[in-house]
Amino acid sequence: MRKIYVIVSILFSLQTSFLNAQIKVIHFGKLIDGKGKLILNAVVIVNGDRIVKVGTEKEIDIPPAAETIDLKAYTAIPGLIDAHTHMTYYWDKTPGTNPWGQLGTLGSSVTVFLAQENARKTLETGVTTVRDLGSFDNMDFAMRNLINRGAMVGPRMFVAGNGLHVSNSPYKIGTIPDPGQCDGVAAVQRVAREQIAASADWIKMYGSTGSDKDVTGFQTFTYEEMKAAADVAHYAGKRIAIHSYGPDGARDAVKAGTNTVEHAIDIDDVTLATMAKNGIIYVPTVEHNRYYIAHKDEYGYDSIIVNGLNSYINKNFETLKRAIKANVKIAMGSDAVFTGFGENTNELNWFVKAGMTPLQALQTATINGAEMLGLEKELGQLSEGYLADIVAIEGDPVKDITVVMKNVKWVMKAGNVMVNKINK
Ligand SMILES: [Zn+2]
Repeated sequence: MRKIYVIVSILFSLQTSFLNAQIKVIHFGKLIDGKGKLILNAVVIVNGDRIVKVGTEKEIDIPPAAETIDLKAYTAIPGLIDAHTHMTYYWDKTPGTNPWGQLGTLGSSVTVFLAQENARKTLETGVTTVRDLGSFDNMDFAMRNLINRGAMVGPRMFVAGNGLHVSNSPYKIGTIPDPGQCDGVAAVQRVAREQIAASADWIKMYGSTGSDKDVTGFQTFTYEEMKAAADVAHYAGKRIAIHSYGPDGARDAVKAGTNTVEHAIDIDDVTLATMAKNGIIYVPTVEHNRYYIAHKDEYGYDSIIVNGLNSYINKNFETLKRAIKANVKIAMGSDAVFTGFGENTNELNWFVKAGMTPLQALQTATINGAEMLGLEKELGQLSEGYLADIVAIEGDPVKDITVVMKNVKWVMKAGNVMVNKINK
């Protein structure tokens, strides 16, 4: 009997010390929980990949033998969500090449390997989750799966496979056959189903012209084609993002029941009201075109192109302001491509300029992003039961949003420290 008791108690103590080895107690000077609650002298207890407790130092019983992490000099915010990336758009900067020209020429396996740099730079901005809206040759599936199994360092990815586009779209990926190309309802249904069969988490549809230096916004897919794609996605329990640079594609996308509208300018009032009422999320990506201007030499963009981008930015910004006033839910999406990784959160500045408080801007990249993904009970908050995605920032993002863009010091994803720039 005594023997059994000894064995049981040894097993029990082994088990508790094993459990405690997974427990991390993290101290922060300040904590913003995502919902808008501010906690001073905060403690977060993480067990494995989950947050098990959040509170003040006084409130919380600190478990013994747990690992302690002192981040009292910093503010904790939830891991950020970038609603629009193209992680597999990688450029190696070889002299004489440019990003768009090189796309599709390095080979898919090589690109997936090299694109780890995009993923790592994204994590360093405090982004622990991305929705990746368009790749090709299964590269986004590969990156998502490699990151999920821990073989690659990066944010968790929700991916769309090939973006659906019409034959005369300026969007070209340089491979033949081009599996995202489809014209007519039947072809749209087939291609959308093929993406889902290949394990896409989202459907991405290019509902208008406009991409990189081209800022035209002519509708491409018809309402019927958009509705067909949205229905295929929804029947499969998936969601759909429709790209539209202009107002017509956005209007029909919203009528067709899209989950998110990407980029669009000059969205009419009725469409904005429908978006607000139906919880359709707007991902404006204003910063994306400013990025192109800042990197115009890399892309070989001349002054005519820059003027076009500037006038698009102005209209995009005006539409963002109107969307905020109309209470449309907005998510932060960078539309990061090539050298844009590492600047994923610059969009937040536009949101504050357009009238959001810094806290509201932060929420576009936390709770709104989580809701967009249907993961509002898993991501976007520092609360009990949520995945332990935590970012430590120097400064107070509720007073000054730019500290989120400049001062990310430490990043935890699902309980693992992924970035640590403290004392370095
Ligand atoms: Zn995009």
